[in-house]
Amino acid sequence: MDDSRLRCVNKKIENERFNDDDNPSDSSYEQMKVEESVEKIFRYFKSRLELDNSLEEQPVLNRHSHTAFLLKGLRHLSISYECLDASRPWLCYWILHSLELLEEPIPEETVSNVARFLGKCQCESGGFSGGPGQEAHLAPTYAAVNALCILGTEEAYKIIDRQKLYTFLMRMRTPEGAYKMHEGGEVDIRGAYCAASAARLTNIVTPALFDGTPEWIVSCQTYEGGFGGCPGMEAHGGYSFCGLAALSLMGHTSLCDLRACLRWTANRQMRFEGGFQGRTNKLVDGCYSFWQAGTFPLIHMVCSMQDDHCLSTERWMFDHEALQEYILVCCQHQGGGLIDKPGKSRDYYHTCYCLSGLAVSQHFAGGKLAHLHIVGSQDNELKPTHPVYNIGVDAVVHANMYFNNMSLPQEPDV
Ligand SMILES: [Zn+2]
Repeated sequence: MDDSRLRCVNKKIENERFNDDDNPSDSSYEQMKVEESVEKIFRYFKSRLELDNSLEEQPVLNRHSHTAFLLKGLRHLSISYECLDASRPWLCYWILHSLELLEEPIPEETVSNVARFLGKCQCESGGFSGGPGQEAHLAPTYAAVNALCILGTEEAYKIIDRQKLYTFLMRMRTPEGAYKMHEGGEVDIRGAYCAASAARLTNIVTPALFDGTPEWIVSCQTYEGGFGGCPGMEAHGGYSFCGLAALSLMGHTSLCDLRACLRWTANRQMRFEGGFQGRTNKLVDGCYSFWQAGTFPLIHMVCSMQDDHCLSTERWMFDHEALQEYILVCCQHQGGGLIDKPGKSRDYYHTCYCLSGLAVSQHFAGGKLAHLHIVGSQDNELKPTHPVYNIGVDAVVHANMYFNNMSLPQEPDV
């Protein structure tokens, strides 16, 4: 923990007073409770460091317990996951991506089993559904394509029916270029990102597919600077990542107000906790370690294309160390897996996005510009993640090599 973070924690400890007469609103009361729980954990962590000098390589990423939790989830899920019966490709993606970040190999037989299971989620009319026999939906389509590309075998790639996927995506398009999540479903910015990600990874992008889409996405940017789910909605970390990543995939980031997006996103990092909140005045949450922090590499990429000489050549524009401390000290479940905030239970979604955010904050850029920022031991280092797709960079390269030789799909009959 660096000096400024320690000062911040100490200051909070000194100011440990809360006046009930202030009649706090629910959200400020909840914020106070979260700060108290985070403070307790940081105090405990700090006291252990002071007592035992041999702990200087703290905090530690508990790789083995996370891996065991993840591998178990590929074979068996507890009854509490019943509510995610329509998100089964998501579970595959969250687990596979977490394992690839941890650089844990997946047994060959499991690779094949997962690929065949995802094949059963592919619909006759194109796209993937949340489970066998369900209706095609853009969210599990994104997750299934990502998961199959992480598996990266020919068997996995061949499962994707590109022509039918294209037909499905064209069917989800609205006349103005926005995307419905499913037939008769809601239109929001996730749809545009899921469609753009799946289409780019599998090389099925045509001019017709995203005609008008960048303009529609930009209409979702709010007065705060972040993006909402659709025009008029509140700025939100998940939607902001989707908006900026989709614009990056379409080569149209210049259409949005990047400075406003940077200002809003940078202000979502919590001064006390170190993690990110999803929206203004909300509580810190481990999953926004990716949805918010993951936006900085995209912003950096655009600024560097504009030859912005003020840009750092070593760091993204957020506090890398504070975020890593929040994830490593406050978000690791003792039994493996990661969590939203202290007191919450573990799940595969938060495990995936806490680890993804950790990877973003450890790795600055790539190639000659690459720079590492590892809090704790070097053994904490994760594999870098691709800033747009959020799968391993090598998985994207392999998928491009496989799909980019293939011809574009035919326009569907209207
Ligand atoms: Zn969350």
